[in-house]
Amino acid sequence: MAKKGKKRGARAFPKGRHVRPETRSAINELLGEVAKGRESLIEHLHVLNDHFGALRKDHLAALAQKLGLAQIDVYETATFYAHFDVIDDDLPFPAKPSVRVCQGPACRMAGSTDVLATTENGVAAPCQGACDKPPAMITGRTRSDAPHLSVGDVDTSSVPDIAAELEIAGLRGMGGAGFPVTQKWKFLAQDGRDRVLVVNADEGEPGTFKDRHLFETEPETVLRGMSIAAQALDVRDVFIYLRDEYPHIHTALIKALPKLNIPNCRVHLRRGAGAYVCGEETALLNSLEGKRGQPRNRPPYPAQSGYRGRPTVTHNVETLYWIADIAERGGQAFADEGRPRFYSVSGRINTPGVYRAPASTTVAELIQMADGMIKGHTFTAFLPGGASGGIFPARFADRAMDFGVFEELGGFVGSGALIVLSDQDDVWSVARELMEFFADESCGKCTPCRVGTEKMVGLLQSPFANADTIRILSQTMRDASICGLGQAAPNPVLSLFNHFEEDSE
Ligand code: SF4
Repeated sequence: MAKKGKKRGARAFPKGRHVRPETRSAINELLGEVAKGRESLIEHLHVLNDHFGALRKDHLAALAQKLGLAQIDVYETATFYAHFDVIDDDLPFPAKPSVRVCQGPACRMAGSTDVLATTENGVAAPCQGACDKPPAMITGRTRSDAPHLSVGDVDTSSVPDIAAELEIAGLRGMGGAGFPVTQKWKFLAQDGRDRVLVVNADEGEPGTFKDRHLFETEPETVLRGMSIAAQALDVRDVFIYLRDEYPHIHTALIKALPKLNIPNCRVHLRRGAGAYVCGEETALLNSLEGKRGQPRNRPPYPAQSGYRGRPTVTHNVETLYWIADIAERGGQAFADEGRPRFYSVSGRINTPGVYRAPASTTVAELIQMADGMIKGHTFTAFLPGGASGGIFPARFADRAMDFGVFEELGGFVGSGALIVLSDQDDVWSVARELMEFFADESCGKCTPCRVGTEKMVGLLQSPFANADTIRILSQTMRDASICGLGQAAPNPVLSLFNHFEEDSE
């Protein structure tokens, strides 16, 4: 029976954009046969973006039709990520790929703002994970500093008592939060649903490049750790979510993963698309599902309902490295070495790089390991945890770069990214640039962060802003933001008021 108000036999005019046959053919030719649904949407968008240099709106409509999705689903995802350039139908595709010139703290110190001004097709980009080789630039899918990378054989045998060894080791997650690994494993739902392991290789915290270093220098160990964790947790699927800024690692993994045989487990490789917030676990899960990378409200927690409602554990790349290391030499040896970790050290030091050192290593010792300050620079301040861990004066350099040490000062070490400043750096400018970064990267889901970061940028530019106003706004952001981005964004500014008294007067 025809619905009321419609003529019998009348065809409803399709909503949204009409897809021309030639556009549909072009998309079909490029993508071939693909499964319907949203799950691989971001991978398909990458294929189009890589091929044409941008995403044209009529192509997005054709893609939506091909995947059986609403056009808005495709459009909202495409426009969320910085690496997708959505253009109108009547605009030509770019003749040359854009050059993303890093504007992170270490690269700015190396003059990347001037480089950007003189680079053809240059676009400002957040930290590219190359603070040891500033200024970093990526042209299309080519990194200027990428080494040749190949992955050798990976041992995928299981380790029967790995959880007990991890307990002895006291291993904590190295992505930033420092949550004990075995506790994470205990929370995982035991209800028989297929479990998922997610490898968070999306290190986007400015100043952090240790995961890139581990993939470049010891990829077999990282994949070995992934295999051990996958078998210990009895997962059916592993997803590696890799920063889009690491195309050379992506290429190497595409070749290596088909040779990796983890029993009863499939391994999938996914590219991020330039969204800092996707380093947050639940934002990453949304991104894996082909959605905007916005954090989820908790509960439910991913251990109960994560990737597509399945019990999910997420581990950082470095955490997997240590799982393999502990499997080989035992938890006690790891503990006896002082719970080592990999620190990313950059800024005004002679030898920026990744340093392996015990968790008790102080800021001053790391600066020494990096061959001290550059000639002509006097050490004045440092950031112990990238953009969000606060800024502290040199008098705190005798503190260990360990979890729980900087918290009492209103900061944290997070992923272990030490950025060293000198008398030639203005800490207020650094704080303002970091707040601009947070405002840019805020996903917009909650008001305290979306509006708070913008307001804070305005206050830092205003001659009338005072400490009280900034403190009230900061407290609101800390208390009411949904995820760590909004909660930690005020840290650099607050630490200046709290610890650089003479500068703030
Ligand atoms: Fe998004 Fe910021 Fe809210 Fe996190 S705190 S959910 S990034 S708006």
